[in-house]
Amino acid sequence: MKKVGFFRSIQLKFIIIYILLLLIAVQVIGSYVAKEVEAELLDNFKDSVNDRVELLSINLQQAFNKDRTGDESEPSLQQEVQDIVTDVDRGGFTTIQVINSQGRVLGTNDFLNQDIVGQKITEPIVQQSLKLHSSLDNTLLNSKTGDRIFVRVEPILNEDENIEGVIYIQTSLEGVYGQLQNINDIFLNGSVLALIVSAVLGILVARAITKPIIEMRRQAQVMATGDFSKKVNVHGTDEISQLAETFNDLNDRLRLSMATIQEEQRKLSSVLSNMTEGVIATDQAGEVSLMNDAAGRLLGASPERFIGEDLLDLLELDERIVDITDLQDSGSIIIDFSEEDNVFLVRANFSTIFDENHAVIGFITVLSDVTEEEKVEQERREFVSNVSHELRTPLTTLRSYLEALTEGAWTDKEIAPQFLAVTQNETERMIRMVNSLLQLSRMDNKELSLHREKTEFIRYFHEVIDRFEMNVSENITLRRELPNLRYYVWMDKDRMTQVLDNIISNAIKYSPDGGNIRFKVEKQIRQIIVSISDEGLGIAYDKLDKVFDRFYRVDKARTRKVGGTGLGLAISRELVEAHYGKIWARSVEGKGTTIFFTLPLMNEKRRGSK
Ligand code: ADP
Repeated sequence: MKKVGFFRSIQLKFIIIYILLLLIAVQVIGSYVAKEVEAELLDNFKDSVNDRVELLSINLQQAFNKDRTGDESEPSLQQEVQDIVTDVDRGGFTTIQVINSQGRVLGTNDFLNQDIVGQKITEPIVQQSLKLHSSLDNTLLNSKTGDRIFVRVEPILNEDENIEGVIYIQTSLEGVYGQLQNINDIFLNGSVLALIVSAVLGILVARAITKPIIEMRRQAQVMATGDFSKKVNVHGTDEISQLAETFNDLNDRLRLSMATIQEEQRKLSSVLSNMTEGVIATDQAGEVSLMNDAAGRLLGASPERFIGEDLLDLLELDERIVDITDLQDSGSIIIDFSEEDNVFLVRANFSTIFDENHAVIGFITVLSDVTEEEKVEQERREFVSNVSHELRTPLTTLRSYLEALTEGAWTDKEIAPQFLAVTQNETERMIRMVNSLLQLSRMDNKELSLHREKTEFIRYFHEVIDRFEMNVSENITLRRELPNLRYYVWMDKDRMTQVLDNIISNAIKYSPDGGNIRFKVEKQIRQIIVSISDEGLGIAYDKLDKVFDRFYRVDKARTRKVGGTGLGLAISRELVEAHYGKIWARSVEGKGTTIFFTLPLMNEKRRGSK
């Protein structure tokens, strides 16, 4: 966050408001006081002028009312007036003129302006006072000096209250205004000082008020980074302190909520990352916003790479689903990501996320690898079809031979036994097949129990080969390349005989005339490897693993002719694996086939105890 500049700060605003308020207060008080002081000073001044005028007026009244005898030695009225006026302390008055009832000047205290004595005064205020017999005053402005002047005209009355003349007094008010100016100056200086002091105080107060606010701002910035460990200092109990307390409370709650959210997130991400199913979350436009590792693995890259991509593109569904909103109704879809020989099928389940107003805000897609499931399902379908097919063939043969017999062949002494032999063979083949199927089914359901016993394998192997040797045609030679040693194996002899019977009978079946069948046993650290090789036509490389699948036959027509069911090697594999061994084939086409299987050797301890 940007730092607030001083000129935009609340501090400056506070100081300005503070000073403005003070200025207004000073202004109001100042003008009120100035007015009052001015009025008071003027009143006082005028009162003192009036008092003195009254005194003068009494003296002059006496002079006017005096009976004059006409004696030469007796001073005339004008002289007496002049004396009285001259005696007056000029201190306060600027000019005093005594004017008789005709408006002529009888005396003045202005020595420099004695010419005026005897002249008629026409000033309206004098005329008015003479007429009205009353005292008048006025404030004038001296046009020359610019001084304010107080003028007072006081009538001089005789005993009969008739007007004898007036006293005209002109005095400067500048002294009063000078005094007022001094008072104003003092007030102004005081105000400036008060303003400075209050500005300083304002800064201090503003700082004190904004300090916790600045602290809270700093704290909020720290909180924005996810750090809730610090707190704002709370001083006092005022509104700002309460705000700071509320702020700290908010901080605590936020910390708790964040901890809960983080905990939930951790749980969610641990659930998501431990899920075997892939989970993809998208917004309502289908843009990927979250993806777990499993989804990344299924789609072949790290989940981060897919964030922001379009879900339909990602799942290669853009041709099947035109609009993302169609996902709402699509439920579950199998997507084929197979490449050449590599089958890879993924099931996608879609669910829609709604907000509180039931508007679509996104989709959750759950992906699961269903390749194996689909394979098993495919195998199951194939198996059912194979079983039906395998059973139908001998049954059809049986039916046709039985039909021929019922239609009269039974009477033919030559054909009837042959036909009956065929039906017997086919029936036996069917019984073999059904038995094999039952055995496989039991093994699938883990119902087949093995009766293991300690067996010396070489001797046992010789016995099995002996049995075949008695029946094998002379054209085929059985070659035993077995060591003259003893290898003890913990096994079910009957089941192992079944395994060896299947392998050896195949070797005999597919051996050409004059072919050799070799039997070997090799010892490794903990196991023996048994191998049976023939010199037959061999098995193509890409089919080597498939011969262990149920009903798989390299050449269907040929094997059926030799009476195979296609289940022998499948049963052998199940039995070897039940003995904790492995079985596999190696073959060179045209040269021969070797079937290998391993069996774990009994360890010394166990051997000793048995
Ligand atoms: P079957 O009963 O048909 O022999 P198996 O499961 O024993 O069934 O064998 C499966 C298929 O593997 C056979 O049909 C055959 O095509 C092939 N096969 C097995 N053993 C050999 C072998 N020694 N030489 C050539 N092909 C073989």
